[in-house]
Parts: sequence; C-alpha cells; structure tokens
Amino acid sequence: MKYIDENKIQNILEKTQNSKSFSIDEILEKAKELKGLNIEELAFLLNVEDEKDLEKIFKVASFVKKEIYGKRIVLFAPLYTSNICTNNCLYCSFQVNNKSLKRKALSYDEVKTQTEILLKTGQKRILLVSGESNILDKKPIDYYLECIKAVYDARYKNNNIRRVNINVAPLTIGEFKELKNANIGTYQIFQETYHEKTYKALHTLGSKKDPDKRISAIDNAFLAGIDDVGMGALLGLYDYKFEILALFMHIEALQNIYGIGPHTISVPRLEPSFGVNFENDKNFYHFVSDKDFKKIVATLRIAVPYTGLILSTRETENMRNFLLNLGISQMSAASSVEPGGYDKKNENNQFILSDSRSLKEVLESIIESGYIPSFCTACYRKSRTGKTFMNLAKPGNIKYNCHLNSLITLKEYLLEFGDKNLLEKGNNLLNNEINSLGKDEKILLENIFSRLENGERDIFL
Ligand code: SAM
Ligand code: SF4
Repeated sequence: MKYIDENKIQNILEKTQNSKSFSIDEILEKAKELKGLNIEELAFLLNVEDEKDLEKIFKVASFVKKEIYGKRIVLFAPLYTSNICTNNCLYCSFQVNNKSLKRKALSYDEVKTQTEILLKTGQKRILLVSGESNILDKKPIDYYLECIKAVYDARYKNNNIRRVNINVAPLTIGEFKELKNANIGTYQIFQETYHEKTYKALHTLGSKKDPDKRISAIDNAFLAGIDDVGMGALLGLYDYKFEILALFMHIEALQNIYGIGPHTISVPRLEPSFGVNFENDKNFYHFVSDKDFKKIVATLRIAVPYTGLILSTRETENMRNFLLNLGISQMSAASSVEPGGYDKKNENNQFILSDSRSLKEVLESIIESGYIPSFCTACYRKSRTGKTFMNLAKPGNIKYNCHLNSLITLKEYLLEFGDKNLLEKGNNLLNNEINSLGKDEKILLENIFSRLENGERDIFL
C-alpha cells in the first residue's frame, strides 16, 4: 500500500519488544517537551504491558493533553444522510450484500429537518456521514453538496449549524474543490486497515476495493486546497500495534510532502453491526481490549500532540469519561447512526451505540469531570487551519482563543438550552474560570457575556 512499509513496521515492532536500548522514562521525559515521538519510541510504548508502566504513560498523556488543550472538550453530532452503498465492507451493515437493511437516502428537506432537531438540542457542529452511491440521478458529490447546503440552510430560532465536517468516500481533486467551496470544515476518512492483505479480504466489491485509491484521498484533498483533514483506522480488523504505527507512518509521509498532517485522528473500535456476523470470524476479528484501547489513546496523545483526538458514542460512558483525561479533545454526543434516526428509530443503524445519553447529560458529566464543554467553530471561520493553525498552536498561541471561545459557547448554550440543574453547574464553572483569568481577558469575557445576555449570538475570537 502506498506510504506503508509493512516489513519496516514489523521489524520496528520486533526490535522494540522488551528492548534494553529504550528507556520508558527517557521517552516520557522527551514527550513532556510536547514535540512528539519518533516511530520507534511510539512502538516501544505500544509494546508496554506492565500496569505500572502504563500508569506512567497515562500520567504523561494527561500532562500533554492539559498543556496543549487545557480543559476543553469540543462536542458534535454525526448526521447520517444515506445508508445506500455500492461497496461491500464486511464489517459494515451498509454493505451492498446486506439484504436485511432497509435502505434510505435523506432528501434535502429531510436533511434540513434532521438538522433542525439537532439544533433544538443545542448542537453547532455536524459530521455528515454517507454511504457511497449515486442517489437517484445524482452523483455522490452532488448528493453530498445538496446535503451540506441543507444543513447550513437549517434554522431553529437564532441557531444554525456553524461547521459541517464530512466523512465520505474518496473524491477527485475537482470534487474536493467543490467540497471546499461548499464551506466544509474537516474532510474525514479512515483507512480502516493499513494491512494490505486484510484490506483486500475485507473490501470485496465497489470502488473501496482499491487500498491505494483510499489512501490517496487525503493527497487529493490537500491538492484541492482542503488543509483540514481527519484520519483514522478502524480498530479490530488487524493487529492494533501495526495499525497505529502504519497510521503514524502515513502521517509522517504527508507531513514530509505537504508540510501538514491531519487536524484530527479517530480510532473507532469495531462495533457489532446489524445483519453482519463478521465479529465471529476469527480470521478477521482482532478485538481491542479496554486496556489496549486506553494505551492507544494515551500513546497517540504523546506521539502526535498537536493533532486532535476524536471519540464517538461507540464507546461507553465510563470509557469516555476515562479517556477525557488521556487525550481526547473532541467527542460526539447523543448520536444516531442511521439516516433519519433523530426523530424515528428504524433499526437501520450502521452499528450499535454504547452511549445513549442526551447532549445535556453529556454536558453535565463533562462539567462534573472538571472539563469545559465547547461548541467553538472559530478556527476554520477565521482561517486558522492547516499550517496557519500549527504555526499558532505549536508556540502555544492558540490556547488563549480556544479557552475563551469555549467559555463563550458554553455561556451561549446555557442561555438557550440550560435547565435548572445544568445552569447551576455551568454557571459555577464559568464563574470559576472567569476568576482565574488575567485582568484584560476577564474584562473582555465579561463584556462578551453581557452582549450574549442581551441577545447577541455567535460571538467568537
Ligand atoms: N462510506 C464512507 C466510507 O466508508 O469511508 C463513509 C461513511 S462510513 C459509514 C464511516 C466509517 O464507519 C467507516 O470509515 C468505518 O471506519 C466505520 N465503520 C463501519 N462499520 C463499522 C462498525 N461495524 N463498527 C464501527 N465503525 C464502523
Ligand atoms: Fe459503505 Fe462506508 Fe459502510 Fe463501507 S464503511 S459499506 S463504504 S458505508
């Protein structure tokens, strides 16, 4: 597969297993400088099994997270627009051969209605997700563009969606340019597995059969001028250590060619899917335990410190709370993974979700854990993306904006959607945060808060 040297990865994994040439303490000391790790150091940490050593890794991951991201957790919701797909990914219920699934592609009006439902709960960011297929007479790209427009057109009182990210199959450079012109935030795509033999065995029909076409999607996005991309691997298809090192190798290759890497990384764990018995097939299924999953999140946080880490509702409430400390910077909340699922549950889900709490409940729990829920969408609207974002983030200059923006968006959420309980917890948090600000920032924020209280909306720095 392009960019991936499988032999090199296997050799690094063997070389770093119980090796005396590496010291966990030295690697973790280096990690505290917030400059990331090299592939061998990452492999060494992935090979750690001892509980005490894992605790050391968690501690440093938590330190890196606090230094770079502070206490903010950005929230979003996925919006599944179509489960019609011409590919046959053996792990996904949308695969063309799954005859038990009811197929549905939302119309412009239906996407708008679903978005309005999300707006009523307070969501500001959406991740559009779709199967790959022509929809009636429309090519996939034209269908995606129509869906993006529907999301941005939707309104509830003063509220609208401020950022649409999109997770769809690879496109041509010309098509990516159209996505960019439609004002998307992040283009997200997961390689699923970087192990070529496994990839080919699991993707049996359609355009997704070709692993090189898939891995080139990010190149095409960059070449089209999209500098905000999300990458990932679906954990459970092949050995996780191989997958994480390959993902790292892919990121390094992109950084060498384009001078930028991904804005976010996702490491979804495979979930049971409707009408798919894949997980019983021992040839393919490489279950990732909770212990290993925590290690994966912590080592990624340390190895690529400036890349956001996203967690979905595939994970349980307990796991999500635990991973907040280890490096997660964005999470979905109150998700539905079926087209039209925000008002009707039709059993057309892509997979079974493990966290079914409402957005309000997730917010409460984030606040109780000492974090700040954020709906901020300022960076991409101020063109702080790609190299510009990294140039600001690495010397620590983005934290100031992000922190204040998180407080502003939380205040806005509380004014519009807070009930008694949440208002009490949220306002306590805001008061404590305001009191810990410097004089100028405090005046700035108090001024913005009073503008919000007087009805102004969507203020960002
Ligand atoms: N069809 C596009 C594609 O495959 O890139 C985008 C949408 S697809 C629904 C989004 C992601 O869902 C896939 O990239 C895959 O990683 C994930 N996925 C598929 N089946 C899954 C399962 N059973 N459990 C967890 N995640 C799954
Ligand atoms: Fe289709 Fe994507 Fe599911 Fe594969 S993962 S079957 S491409 S929706």
